[in-house]
Amino acid sequence: MITVEEFAAHARTWLAENMPPADPATADFFLTATQRPEAEELARVATCRELQRRLFDGGFAGICVPVEYGGQGLTPAHQTAFNREIRGYDYPAEIQASTFIPCMAVLLEFGTHEQKLRHIPAMLRGEEIWVQLLSEPGGGSDAAGAVTTATRDGDRWILNGSKIWTTSAWYGDWALCLARTNWDVGKHGGLTVFSLPVGAPGVDTHRIELVNGSREFCQEFLTDVVVPDHDRLGDVDAGWGVVTRWLHHERTISGGSPYVTGSGNRPNDGPYEPRVMVGTARRLGTIDDSHTRDLIGEGQILALVTRALVESVTRKMAAGALPHHAAAMCRLFSGTATSRRAAIATELCGDAGVVWAPGEEVSAQVARGYLVRQAACIGGGTTEMARNVISERLLGMPREARADTGPFRDVPRGPWANSPP
Ligand SMILES: Cc1cc2nc3c(=O)[nH]c(=O)nc-3n(C[C@H](O)[C@H](O)[C@H](O)COP(=O)(O)OP(=O)(O)OC[C@H]3O[C@@H](n4cnc5c(N)ncnc54)[C@H](O)[C@@H]3O)c2cc1C
Repeated sequence: MITVEEFAAHARTWLAENMPPADPATADFFLTATQRPEAEELARVATCRELQRRLFDGGFAGICVPVEYGGQGLTPAHQTAFNREIRGYDYPAEIQASTFIPCMAVLLEFGTHEQKLRHIPAMLRGEEIWVQLLSEPGGGSDAAGAVTTATRDGDRWILNGSKIWTTSAWYGDWALCLARTNWDVGKHGGLTVFSLPVGAPGVDTHRIELVNGSREFCQEFLTDVVVPDHDRLGDVDAGWGVVTRWLHHERTISGGSPYVTGSGNRPNDGPYEPRVMVGTARRLGTIDDSHTRDLIGEGQILALVTRALVESVTRKMAAGALPHHAAAMCRLFSGTATSRRAAIATELCGDAGVVWAPGEEVSAQVARGYLVRQAACIGGGTTEMARNVISERLLGMPREARADTGPFRDVPRGPWANSPP
């Protein structure tokens, strides 16, 4: 196997010859964007697919994915080294989450050999973008409370319900979907996971506009959507076992996953890059102000500590020295640090963070980022849920009390929820 040092050196040369430099304007292209023409958004998606294909052809896609499924069969240490090398280059950020984590990671763990062969190479080539149909209008933290229903009809299933906050669904290709297949057992016992094309007949996808103008999130209405049984992941009614790992991989969005490029170590920090922050302070004439210097220092320390924590936890989880629940530490720290860095950048911009002249893209990006800064503490599971995982699963503190035991059919629920069949 190629050593980590050799791999990093090869990556350094290859990246310089093949990947474009990062453009701060493309950092968080969708989430911190104001409304753009759809053609411009789709052009970015096409660029991401093309960059992903380049990584694949260059031998840098799926670094930790088995060779038989199109990956490189290397180790998390190789992926970490690549994450360091790719800093400063544009990369297909929009394909990392949700396609590689959690979707590809879940397929790798629970998919059949045929399912993996069918989808994973296509994901790595940038041909299939996957999304996760997990959260529902009735609540996202309580994933086991899903009321989207799948009813068996011979060798197929009929899905009905609604999912929400789905990143990338309006341009995605395939989805993992959690549905209830049995209402007569306890909440966690009657769930099953399916895969389905986002454009399947009966899936009605609506974009949701956020406070900053971004229309990245979607809500889907599923009406009599037919899913063949061979697109089921894992056993019938055993979906909670799949979701437990799904949520784990989702939490690693903030760092700790061996399957993504740049996780917790974003190659493109956009307006939060130290050089961009220093540039802003110089432009505004505040660079000699001690408070400004404190803010820049704090932002930089938060970025460095996030990166060090993620690398350390990733290494220890891979070596078995930490349980997989440790990813919650990265998720918690990274979420709060990202949100704080958005506030720091806004303060640094002063008035320009609220009102900016035409063409002042950095200030505009900072302002839009500030409006959605809390998303960093919600997406990938909330930081409160991460605190629960740390206290209950890592520190062994008592589990929180539950009022939803017994057959799920009898658990009281709000009027918005699907009625049991
Ligand atoms: C950037 C981003 C991307 C996302 N992408 C997707 C996606 O692709 N697919 C998808 O399905 N969903 C996605 N989501 C939705 C996300 O998973 C949910 O928003 C999240 O799980 C919280 O669910 P909720 O919004 O329904 O809040 P709720 O679950 O209703 O929670 C409301 C508040 O109560 C707190 N809370 C709830 N239960 C507990 C508890 N037991 N202990 C302590 N506090 C608790 C929560 O932390 C939160 O602060 C995304 C969200 C964001 C912001």
